[in-house]
Amino acid sequence: MSIPYRHAEKIPLNQQAKPPVERDLAHCDALLLILPENAGKGLWQTFPHGEFLAQRARQRRAAMGSHLDWDTELPNPRGTRVRVVYVKPGLSTFDQLSAARGWAKQLLDGKPLRVGVYAAPGTATSALLEAAVLALLAASCPLPSRKSTAEPLCPLTRIDCYGATEPLNFERLRAQVQGNHLARWLTQLPGNELRPGDYRQLASALAKRHGWQVEFLNRATLARRKAGAFLAVTQASHVDDGGLLRLSYRPPRSKSGSRSTKPKLALVGKGICFDTGGVNLKSAKSMHGMHEDMEGSAVALGTLLALSLLKVDFAVDCWLALAENHIGPQAYKPNDVVTACNGTSIEIVHTDAEGRMVLADALALAARENPALIIDYATLTGACVYALSTRYSGVFGNRDDLLATLTAAGKHSGERVWPFPMDADFDDALKSDSADIKQCTLDSEADHILAARFLNRFVPPDIAWLHVDLSAGNHKGGLAHIPSDVTGFGVGLTLTALLEHDLLKAASIPHD
Ligand SMILES: [Zn+2]
Repeated sequence: MSIPYRHAEKIPLNQQAKPPVERDLAHCDALLLILPENAGKGLWQTFPHGEFLAQRARQRRAAMGSHLDWDTELPNPRGTRVRVVYVKPGLSTFDQLSAARGWAKQLLDGKPLRVGVYAAPGTATSALLEAAVLALLAASCPLPSRKSTAEPLCPLTRIDCYGATEPLNFERLRAQVQGNHLARWLTQLPGNELRPGDYRQLASALAKRHGWQVEFLNRATLARRKAGAFLAVTQASHVDDGGLLRLSYRPPRSKSGSRSTKPKLALVGKGICFDTGGVNLKSAKSMHGMHEDMEGSAVALGTLLALSLLKVDFAVDCWLALAENHIGPQAYKPNDVVTACNGTSIEIVHTDAEGRMVLADALALAARENPALIIDYATLTGACVYALSTRYSGVFGNRDDLLATLTAAGKHSGERVWPFPMDADFDDALKSDSADIKQCTLDSEADHILAARFLNRFVPPDIAWLHVDLSAGNHKGGLAHIPSDVTGFGVGLTLTALLEHDLLKAASIPHD
């Protein structure tokens, strides 16, 4: 099985500041014109076939009474399909990306090979062009499908952007698309095709291609490290394939020849390849879709891929907690007591709260490498979905300033997050008579916050830590520019936080 995550690499991206001319249109199958809501008549004069377009626009306005999106075919030899859309001023990134999802769908329905996008003066040109590129690339990324009648994807071969005077960062956009594509592709694979062993193989092949170091902590190694929380989840598996996969990116040597070997950033992801709920078995409705319970790990891996493609100058470790949550005679049970590798004993309360169990040891082991920042991603709690819906993801952390940075990056990237409180007194609910801490409670009240408080026990307070509860990991019909239900939410957020909001620098400042 090979992953088509390099798809976006093959589509050339170009830009020029001026509007397209006749010669450009000779190679263009579909052209998107993004105009300001109050576009004046004079605008059409700047286009080839301006008189024809102006006439169409007049007819359209007479019929509809207002500026509504419309399309037409140009009378040029190529028969270029033109789609005209009007945008309001001051749109948020999320709104721009959501609009771009619709534009991309309409454009690609005609199966064009070459697409042009022009954002006119009076619009947020660069942001809208970037949104259109992200949406076009996301919509042309193949996802796993086993339908014998699956419709072929649009064979897009080139995107030309017109209208931006400053350079668009195509490399950055493409890296984000590839990381997100990888995350969505893995998450959408059915559970019988992505068991922990398959996942490990795929990730190891990626590591080889991109020069990452690989270490796999299997059950025997985890037992030696006394990772009892992780092992409690894997012990019902009849195949010994679960474990903690560590992938390490190290930046290219600097000019002085020095090479950092210690990770500055650790990405940790929940990779439950299927979640039955365990002994506290899920109902049919709740179990449906549980092959997606590994999305957190896929987001961590997709982020690592994007950072590695961009050759960032800091070292990154990525920890994938790979396991299945099974039922069976060996399965862990309520009231069992297990001890994680940092010595914390845990009273099991509900076997469906397995995500926090594997993450507990994964976080503690990642912390031993002493990174400046740990970010973990997990489809962790239903409570977070109840609180935010699937439009936002919840974020938690041990540093308020970093939460503010992450929230701002959420707005800026269109992957919106909302911070929750996690004050120490929430721990009262997790007091146990038999162990240091309870795994969870049997009431669902604020389970997303209790889960974060639980995880907090496994991260030393001197390491900055952010926890992303991926309630927006699956949104029916797609979210922002992403057209599939599986969103791969988190890759764009993290790249924006690290590359545009200096998250790592903020995390490196000593804190008391
Ligand atoms: Zn579960």
